[in-house]
Amino acid sequence: MPEDSHYTVPADGKKISSKNDQLIIPKNPIIPFIKGDGIGLDIWHATEMVINTAIKKAYKGKRIIHWMEIFAGEKSYNEFGKWLPDETPAAIKDYHVAIKGPLTTPVGGGIRSLNVSLRQILDLYACIRPVRHFEGVPTPLAKPGALNVVIFRENTEDVYAGIEWESGSDIANRFIKMIKDEYNKDIRENSGIGIKPISPFGTKRLVRKAIQYAIDNNRKNVTLVHKGNIMKYTEGAFRDWGYELAKDEFSDSTIIEAVFWDEYSGMVRDKVVVKDRIADAMFQQILLRPDEYEVIATSNLNGDYLSDACAAQVGGLGMAPGANISDDVALFEATHGTAPKYTNQDKVNPSSLILSGVMMLDYIGWRESGSLIIDAIRETILQKKVTYDLERQMDGATKLSTSGFAEAIISNM
Ligand code: NAP
Repeated sequence: MPEDSHYTVPADGKKISSKNDQLIIPKNPIIPFIKGDGIGLDIWHATEMVINTAIKKAYKGKRIIHWMEIFAGEKSYNEFGKWLPDETPAAIKDYHVAIKGPLTTPVGGGIRSLNVSLRQILDLYACIRPVRHFEGVPTPLAKPGALNVVIFRENTEDVYAGIEWESGSDIANRFIKMIKDEYNKDIRENSGIGIKPISPFGTKRLVRKAIQYAIDNNRKNVTLVHKGNIMKYTEGAFRDWGYELAKDEFSDSTIIEAVFWDEYSGMVRDKVVVKDRIADAMFQQILLRPDEYEVIATSNLNGDYLSDACAAQVGGLGMAPGANISDDVALFEATHGTAPKYTNQDKVNPSSLILSGVMMLDYIGWRESGSLIIDAIRETILQKKVTYDLERQMDGATKLSTSGFAEAIISNM
């Protein structure tokens, strides 16, 4: 812990450690959390209550999380003068697993986004978004239950790498000239320029995580989503490197879709089918044939669009959990923002953060407690006891506060 540290390490907890790329989880792990700004406080309290109760019920006191508050965002800025103290990413790295509420994006001050900063500092290269429907949650689809997919979005490359130059700037003009002079390619005068880097290293480590997840969780297929018909050396290469990785590292446990059909007539049961789809077609597929997709691995921009589109199909971002992970650090988080107009009103839906907590429990192997929470959320929604966002779309529902919804989940455990 840094000498000027603002956080207090719980005396009875033990650190999660890592050996040979495997996490070692004690029965009393210390897990750092950031409450978050705006509605963060309300949804964190609800989440903590639900997770603690589920663990108590599942393990009868034999396991317990020792929560450790660390700081970022407005609270950190107001109390310590820093939006993101160095000790915060350092603690997340040191303790391996952490969870956070939403954070305000500071206006000015040189930080683009605290979330992006955390991802970059910790090299959290895979953004994972499971999307599933809870019966009773209003959706625009006739059969929303058919969509049950986990999206692995590459988090560090693509047009999000932040390499772009403004129209008319000296560097943009020099770049346009260089492309003309050296490669005889025309770019229209005064164009803004953005760079889209996609590497074999970045692609393969993402696809590796997605395939390993499919194997570990008995998922039937992994789909590489790309726009390789147009961008051959970035998106097309993403597809090629993905297949290459499957062949080189997972030949015993995966099978390529073409081989699956051409040589085995679809009769292989014990292997993960690796396939690919062009991004625009994929947006149709998730609407028309959602049950054919279980795990998706995709580049940064495609993943951004696709995860919100999938979330909308099952009831919106309020119900969508997420995690950003590297090889030995995992940061679980609500996917929505701070919704500042609802601050301290005990009003909003805590499901996104609670479900991120379930992902966290699964990640540390405490699946029994995660299942208790999922079943209880399902039951609570079926009873039509929901927060305002769902209540306004449902007939005959009871509107609960954030804490009331958490209590209803607990009483259904
Ligand atoms: P937002 O905070 O996600 O809120 C937009 C709207 O989404 C809310 O007004 C509300 O809709 C609905 N909503 C969000 N969370 C909800 C919940 N838990 N339950 C029910 N409804 C919920 O988006 P924003 O207003 O664009 O962003 C506000 C701030 O959050 C910004 O500073 C932004 O940079 C930051 N942000 C942070 C993260 C993060 O930390 N991961 C992510 C995105 C944005 P209704 O008005 O219809 O009720």
